[in-house]
Amino acid sequence: MAHAVRRHRWVVLTFVAAAGLAVLVSTRLGRVAAQEAGRPVGATYTGKAFTFNEVVPGVYHAVGTGALAVGCNASVIVNADDVMVIDTNLSPGAAWALREEVKALTPKPVRYVVNTHWHWDHAHGNQIYGPDVTVIGHEYTRAKLAAGDSMRGRSYEMFITTGLPARIADLKAKLAAAPAAGRATLESQLAIAETQLAGSKGLVPTPPTLTFTDHLTLTRGGREIRLLYLGRAHTGGDIVVFLPKERVVITGDLLVEGTSYIGDGFLADWPATLDRLRALDFDITLPGHGTAFRGKAKIDHFQAYLRDFRQQAEALHKAGVPAEAAAAKMDMRTHAEHYPALTTPGVLWHGVARAYEEFEGTAR
Ligand SMILES: [Zn+2]
Repeated sequence: MAHAVRRHRWVVLTFVAAAGLAVLVSTRLGRVAAQEAGRPVGATYTGKAFTFNEVVPGVYHAVGTGALAVGCNASVIVNADDVMVIDTNLSPGAAWALREEVKALTPKPVRYVVNTHWHWDHAHGNQIYGPDVTVIGHEYTRAKLAAGDSMRGRSYEMFITTGLPARIADLKAKLAAAPAAGRATLESQLAIAETQLAGSKGLVPTPPTLTFTDHLTLTRGGREIRLLYLGRAHTGGDIVVFLPKERVVITGDLLVEGTSYIGDGFLADWPATLDRLRALDFDITLPGHGTAFRGKAKIDHFQAYLRDFRQQAEALHKAGVPAEAAAAKMDMRTHAEHYPALTTPGVLWHGVARAYEEFEGTAR
């Protein structure tokens, strides 16, 4: 299985290189593909949108190639008679792309979809699935999606409402100033961002149709699929998908390869929730962001990060430092051994604002 994980890294690297080459020669072809019958406007791309890394027989980590904005990793479980998809990416177009590309893995139909949590980049593709598909999530996830919360708030604002148009304007400005040799990559990035914006137009957040609060077990053929709520963490309703026989767990953003987004999290509860994750008997983790990994060491690293983050935020809160100024003062570099991206002081202010809500009793 170490071999499988190593091979998957190699495949990803190869594919990114290939996608880069494809982009150099065929941005225009991507637009032609948009006219193909049945393909939604948000699914305009060239080549493949996903790489499917099979970590154990029939269980795939679906990682975006970069040809289309997909937001998160999905996972795909091929059962005896049907398929389960975990997370639906950031748009109907991205979810459509995944469903199309799954057809190359198996002729079996997708019958179950799971939302690990309510965030837009994991649940905004739900609407492409019709009444023959059961969309499963925590009751909290259903409530957040039904209330429209996935289309507002500081995370959505940063990445989408203001973030996406700003990114498009920035790419256009760069393109206008770019020498001929640098244009192809920028043109491709601009096309991907514009497709994402176009694909968000007809988006209707669609909540799960089957919900639970503690656990739900599906037995499909010889496969046992356990959906578990382990406590509040990255949101108030994260669930993990645990395959006990295969010793695989699909964690959404409760545990990712790097440091997970804290802006809607519950810092006081998250480390204990990770203790309950550790108690499960698994070896391979398929996270919502980053590459798959083995073992449980990342649980310890992330618990240490979260506890330090909360302690630093608490001291600044007690000192009366506003959240944005506090975010600039925080320094997480002592965790750089495990999170090499932590090269400078300062953190995303969203997480500090969230910690302050916890201290003030307003986190929901
Ligand atoms: Zn998330």
